[in-house]
Amino acid sequence: MQGYSFELVTGPMGCGKTEELLRRVRRTIIAKKKVKVISPEVDTRAHGDYIESRNGLWLEAIKVKNAAQILSVVKQDDEIVAIDELQFFDEYIVKVISKLVEAGKKVIGTGLDLDFKAEPFGYMPELMCLATKIDKLSAVCMKCGSEYATRTQRLVDGKPVDKNSPLIMIGGDETYEARCIKCYELPDVKSETRKREFKLLHFGE
Ligand SMILES: [Zn+2]
Repeated sequence: MQGYSFELVTGPMGCGKTEELLRRVRRTIIAKKKVKVISPEVDTRAHGDYIESRNGLWLEAIKVKNAAQILSVVKQDDEIVAIDELQFFDEYIVKVISKLVEAGKKVIGTGLDLDFKAEPFGYMPELMCLATKIDKLSAVCMKCGSEYATRTQRLVDGKPVDKNSPLIMIGGDETYEARCIKCYELPDVKSETRKREFKLLHFGE
């Protein structure tokens, strides 16, 4: 088990990032290492204090409100720090992970590389530069079945949302699916009716 390292698993929605994180964490538990599993509170998939992959695997996790809080959660004798959904953290996440790695810990993280607009998500570009090892996974395209789905399509009522939709929608009626570059769609709709519709979804009123 190597300390002083940062393994990053990235890719679109549904590529198996969390599943891979859980697999790696389980191995460290078998090796009797001290491990902390952390996830941002914004993650709506898991409601309790745990992280869950799409295939139903789960592990207890500590929910944090921001990146700085990670440092107060991790204890000196923790050897492994696993962090899910890194794309949701503030800019301090880059410093926090550097500090953990420099303190000799092995950090294993996951995060979406691209948002639904196919633009770099949060501080993932910086984290990819900082990583010791990166595994970029692809998903199966939900439209054509290609094994190289690298993008995350956001759908509302089964239709692709346009560019003006907010980056993070909590409690909305939206779904996501993995798509290949050929099948990915990003309409540029700016009509007032559409805007109002998204506002309502965003605030859940
Ligand atoms: Zn496709």
